[in-house]
Amino acid sequence: MPKEPKKPSSKKPQGPIQSVKGMRDILPDEMRFLERIRKAFLNIAVSYGFEGIETPILEDTDLFVRGVGKATDVVQKQMFSFRTKGGDPVTMRPEYTAGVVRAYYENGMFNLPQPLKLWYWGPVFRYERPQAGRHRQFHQLGAEIIGEINAVLDAQLIQFFTIMLKELGITAYTVEINSLGCKVCRSGYRQAVVNYFRPDIRKMCPDCKRRLKESPLRVFECDKEKCREIAEKAPQTVDHLCQECHSHFKEVLEYLDEIDIPYHLNPKLVRGLDYYTKTVFEIWPEDQAGYALGGGGRYDNLVEMLGEKMAPAVGFSAGIERLAGELKKIGAPIVKDKDIPTVFLAQLGELGRKKSLKLFEELRRAGFRVMESFGRNSIKSQLKIANREETGIALILGQKEALDGTIIVRDMTAGTQETVPLSKLINELQKRFALTETNKSA
Ligand SMILES: [Zn+2]
Ligand SMILES: [Zn+2]
Repeated sequence: MPKEPKKPSSKKPQGPIQSVKGMRDILPDEMRFLERIRKAFLNIAVSYGFEGIETPILEDTDLFVRGVGKATDVVQKQMFSFRTKGGDPVTMRPEYTAGVVRAYYENGMFNLPQPLKLWYWGPVFRYERPQAGRHRQFHQLGAEIIGEINAVLDAQLIQFFTIMLKELGITAYTVEINSLGCKVCRSGYRQAVVNYFRPDIRKMCPDCKRRLKESPLRVFECDKEKCREIAEKAPQTVDHLCQECHSHFKEVLEYLDEIDIPYHLNPKLVRGLDYYTKTVFEIWPEDQAGYALGGGGRYDNLVEMLGEKMAPAVGFSAGIERLAGELKKIGAPIVKDKDIPTVFLAQLGELGRKKSLKLFEELRRAGFRVMESFGRNSIKSQLKIANREETGIALILGQKEALDGTIIVRDMTAGTQETVPLSKLINELQKRFALTETNKSA
């Protein structure tokens, strides 16, 4: 477990307070993308029969050491860990799956009808040196199916993921897929890998030397050129699968063929976490630039590692910021709320302002998006904002109108206006918006 270097808490100079190192704000321009991703994700999750789960950000450090694996980069280099005031070692979750499986046991969810289909969305933490594009807090969405081994579910999760990408307008991607086998076939494969690298071990980087001892398959994740070269002709997992794993993998691929999802068999794909068994997959943008958009796989052993009962499971996760980045890259249009009929509500005088709050809510309930500038007194400056926001219709509620129970409906484009009884306002607006809709489609 990485230890925080003890630094004396020197007195900081006074000044404006800034965000903590490695943390960043997400501003409205980016939030628009995030909201769009969330909408697409939840739509599919719900129609595929998934239900939501949220686990605590803070977990017992041991959960990740045991679940994710002692030898993984995540546990060795990236955990955001510290001790509570009571001295308990805790970690800000670096990923969701281990916590979801803990929750599965702790809440007796194995007693529910299986399989359990769960979705999640939220922040995860990695204590890395902050660098371009990497932050200590980022966000993941994902889905898990716990309690079923059938290969059809591996394919369904990949389908879920690719459909979400399509809904978001991301059509240029590749599905990379591999099978890592199970406990039975993995040990034979591991030995074959060790035997293969042994003659060249001195030419490899220090990380790989350690990996070969602790977790040999991870050698394939090294990005050093020399190590990659040596790994080029290494034995492949698919040639070492036991009968059961072999036919499971074949079935996954057949299901993918059936639903027309093209894939690329990638024998070097091992994923960074210890708990994967059988199917692993990653989805890459077509140009293969930067990072995978997401990935996942089967983790039949994790459930057993963390609890008493064995339960097969499969899941996927995706980095939300990466998806947002991809949307920006391909120039996906930002859907503003302009499609919702929008009016600007301007008020004048004390009575006008008082009545505005109630009217605002009535308009919202009738399905309108209402913009306002209640803090301003001048009608001119309010209409200026209405112009800037391009709301086609402005409503003006002045002292006289408030007393008469009427309101002025102003067509901002034509510059014309008429006074309408308040009781007929919603009707009048609906008529006007229906008219612009027919004009648009004509
Ligand atoms: Zn096997
Ligand atoms: Zn290496």
